[in-house]
Amino acid sequence: MSKTVFSGMRPTGKLHLGHWLGALQNWVNLQKDYQCVFAIADWHALMGEYENSRRLNEYIVDMAIDWIACGIDPDKSILYVQSSVPEHLELQMVLSCLTPLGWLERNPTYKEQLREISSRDLQTYAFLGYPVLQAADILLYKATAVPIGEDQLPHLELCREIARRFNFFYKKELFPDCNPILTQTPRLLGIDRRKMSKSYDNAINLSDSESDIVKKSTKMITDPQRIRISDPGRPEYCNVYSYYQVFAPDLAPDVYDWCTGSKKGCIECKSILGQRIIKYLAPMRAKRNELEKDKDRIRDILNEGAKKAKSIAHKTMIEVREAVFGP
Ligand code: ATP
Ligand code: MG
Repeated sequence: MSKTVFSGMRPTGKLHLGHWLGALQNWVNLQKDYQCVFAIADWHALMGEYENSRRLNEYIVDMAIDWIACGIDPDKSILYVQSSVPEHLELQMVLSCLTPLGWLERNPTYKEQLREISSRDLQTYAFLGYPVLQAADILLYKATAVPIGEDQLPHLELCREIARRFNFFYKKELFPDCNPILTQTPRLLGIDRRKMSKSYDNAINLSDSESDIVKKSTKMITDPQRIRISDPGRPEYCNVYSYYQVFAPDLAPDVYDWCTGSKKGCIECKSILGQRIIKYLAPMRAKRNELEKDKDRIRDILNEGAKKAKSIAHKTMIEVREAVFGP
């Protein structure tokens, strides 16, 4: 088990189906073969939530519960809160010095978020540097594999470039090259067909109540050309059909037939989907209900994780300081 996997998520709200399908599912599977380090990225969360920072503590515990409910095993993997390992910020400082501003300004994820998010002001110094802190997160553990959703690919590319630049300046192959690991659903669309996102209010959360799941499923946008039941639909265009392929693949051929053959209407199709999503999430819900009874245990797990993470991070920073400033 020599290779290290690193990934993280921002504790800015409840986890949704996109997090599970785009990343978390891979995290769970990778635990078998890799040393996995998973960070709850509270500094990254603060970049967007600086006006509502008191909420982060609650989200942190919720996130750890969701991870464990989904199959992250704290006995195998390191789970911790980013800000409890100060080395992240130390390495970020070093990397900031060598990251050209243009690399950050050109980042498509940054531009998309500035365009799409109007509820808070993201025109800040820290938010522009988001990928530099992310590079520090990954490089601190010398991770070679990073399981993420598609929206994170530009960030990972920047991380690789920053690592190469560090190695080039300081004449040391200190940081290994790291590669993304994508799932089969690297970008799940939300109920409004934009990327499913906490910030867009278009998400089905892993912890949503059954009635919320039904309500949200019936709101999903289908093929706009299908107005009456008698109009044949285009499943390849319809987001609901793509959900069936993931959450109820056994029904997908029938759904194709209901839609193209005008046999069932969209409302009925969406309500059956809602029931299948509820069934799909049931085991996670049961485990979450158990874990929620003992939040102190969750905090203990995160503290233990922080100790393990810190011991790796501390060693890397000794090497970094030596590479930069000399012995
Ligand atoms: P959101 O995008 O919902 O606002 P976030 O951006 O705050 O969530 P991150 O912590 O940035 O959440 O993302 C955690 C991980 O989940 C990342 O690897 C990201 O690529 C992945 N992810 C988030 N949303 C989706 C999605 N809709 N489809 C696939 N993967 C996703
Ligand atoms: Mg994101």
